[in-house]
Amino acid sequence: MLAFAVVKSALGGVEAADWPLNGRTHREEHFSPLTQIGPRTVESLGLAWQFDDFVVRGRTHRGNEATAIYADGVLYFSGPWSVVYAVDARTGRLRWRYDPHVAGQWAGRGCCDVVSRGVALWHGRVYVATFDGFLVALDARDGREAWRVDTFTDRVAMNYSITGAPRIAGHNVLIGNGGAEMGARGYVTAFDLETGRMAWRFFTVPGDPAKGPDENSAMMFARGTWSKDSRWDLGGGGTAWDSMVYDPELNLVYVGTGNGCPHPVWTRSPGGGDNLYLSSIVALDAGTGALRWHYQTTPGDSWDYTATQNIILADLKIGPRVRHVLMQAPKNGFFYLLDRATGELLSADAYTRVTWADRVDLASGRPVMTSQADFSTEPKLIWPSQAGGHNWMPMSFNPATGLVYIPTLEMPMNFAVTPASDVKFRPGANNEGDSVDVPAQAVPQLATVLKAWDPVTHRMAWQAAAGPFWGGGALSTAAGIVFAGAADGSFTVYDARSGRVLKRIETGSGIMAAPITYQVDGTQYVAVLAGIGGAISAVGYPPGSAALSYENTERLLVFKLHGRPVPHPAPRAQEPLEPLPVLGGDDVPTPAVLAQGRALFGAWCAACHAFRGAPNAYPNLWNLPLATHAAFETIVHDGALAEVGMPSFAGSLAPAEVRAIQQFIVADEASSRAEQSATNH
Ligand code: CA
Repeated sequence: MLAFAVVKSALGGVEAADWPLNGRTHREEHFSPLTQIGPRTVESLGLAWQFDDFVVRGRTHRGNEATAIYADGVLYFSGPWSVVYAVDARTGRLRWRYDPHVAGQWAGRGCCDVVSRGVALWHGRVYVATFDGFLVALDARDGREAWRVDTFTDRVAMNYSITGAPRIAGHNVLIGNGGAEMGARGYVTAFDLETGRMAWRFFTVPGDPAKGPDENSAMMFARGTWSKDSRWDLGGGGTAWDSMVYDPELNLVYVGTGNGCPHPVWTRSPGGGDNLYLSSIVALDAGTGALRWHYQTTPGDSWDYTATQNIILADLKIGPRVRHVLMQAPKNGFFYLLDRATGELLSADAYTRVTWADRVDLASGRPVMTSQADFSTEPKLIWPSQAGGHNWMPMSFNPATGLVYIPTLEMPMNFAVTPASDVKFRPGANNEGDSVDVPAQAVPQLATVLKAWDPVTHRMAWQAAAGPFWGGGALSTAAGIVFAGAADGSFTVYDARSGRVLKRIETGSGIMAAPITYQVDGTQYVAVLAGIGGAISAVGYPPGSAALSYENTERLLVFKLHGRPVPHPAPRAQEPLEPLPVLGGDDVPTPAVLAQGRALFGAWCAACHAFRGAPNAYPNLWNLPLATHAAFETIVHDGALAEVGMPSFAGSLAPAEVRAIQQFIVADEASSRAEQSATNH
């Protein structure tokens, strides 16, 4: 009886006006039946209201990745540092804010910033997973904690962090974690919605055999696909950091798993092997967590090709019959259609440029790899990049057009190897085991392109004009339109069938997150979180980013018909040129010290601060005030700014190493200034 009620509520119970789950319904289509805003009316779309009160306790801007949730006149969403907001959906007035007080020091445990992709809502409770690993149930009326549990198995030897949104699955709430870049063993856990008691846990890769027997038959089976000499000390990876979809019809949970650690299979699992269940979709029994089937998108992954990207459930007529399918466009560049009852591969087609494989063989389900894929002996230029042909920005499925709208990323990378002996477990450090760079030449585009893919005919119906890299997630509606933001600050409405631009609003804020829509008091609204950040920090704001012209303040922008223009944020402040400090008195740093400083910067700092000439959300280390330089060691080593999110590196860097980093920065800036002045004269 209860199961029936759950199915009913999942499939028929979502009112057209509502957006109560991450992808709106359990199918996670990112689609709405609302039609007030449509091709004939959208011209007057403008701002209804905005909410911009995101900064807590002096912590700096990190960007917004969350998909908001709407129910009963209230919007619920999370921002950086896993802070939860409940605002009036008509006016934007803040009802309550919940700050989980994530330890600033924990910022060093994540690969890709302290972002959060959303909350879950169920029967008067809001669920959020914090960056530092706690799952918290809040009273939806006032944001008070109902319960709080620690979801991490290990807070010391593994670099876990959480950026994903919890999902509701029957009696349970699901959460995974991230950290595969830095040394983590992936898993997903189900907790009882009422009490927070753990219901089940599924590890995605086998653990260190020295630490105990395999947890279940799925782990025993997976172990056969790993070398005995695998780098168990680094956890293996496979972290489930984004997509977890509940299927009430089949009582299954589909979880997308991440890349391995270290990245190259020859380092991670010497001798090779598929390394299950990396870069896979695993179907688990929603009640017990037992593995029902799995499909691995990238066997023996060496390219950071996670399969964590958003999964959408649909019923599609393929050939003579309707198939119950799931769809995913993981990083590796192929769009997959699987029978969700059995895991049978129905189709796999490239949705972007792919050079690591020619195609996917449907009979075996395996990619047919090219010689270009192997970078074990020489660097290779490979499409897609580590960022993938599609990342976490949600794609949308419109059952009326039958099209899937994919925010694709068009970028290759040069992949090279780090010697296996150099890959050590270092808390807070990158343990990827490879080095990559974005090629400066021979790249036709470096962009985000919204593409409309027909999963039945395997045809690209249309693609939008290219925008700057790292653009926004998609929303489609029954009115035949598609919404998507972009890094350049535009928010665009497309005709769902033709891709024609129907309306474009310049917001001045880079947009990564996916929009939602809801209706209250007879008015349809479209809400999108704005502010750019996350993994893009490592390379700086891409050319054309709004954040290069305007302050990158986080905002929730809410639109309606007959709305007003969106106020742009303040122009990005021009920093006065600071004088460079004289370090170490008369001792000029040796080339060896500067080289050491550069290498340490790359290993420990660059994931957030990026190298010179790549502005992002973080303080510009190449133009620090003298007072900050004077406090450099106090900040980097002693953690003077840990509370605002700059962790102490005392556990990883000796004071002399911190000084080498500082000397590298100062010398690098000095030579750049000398070069510039030579050019100017
Ligand atoms: Ca990754």
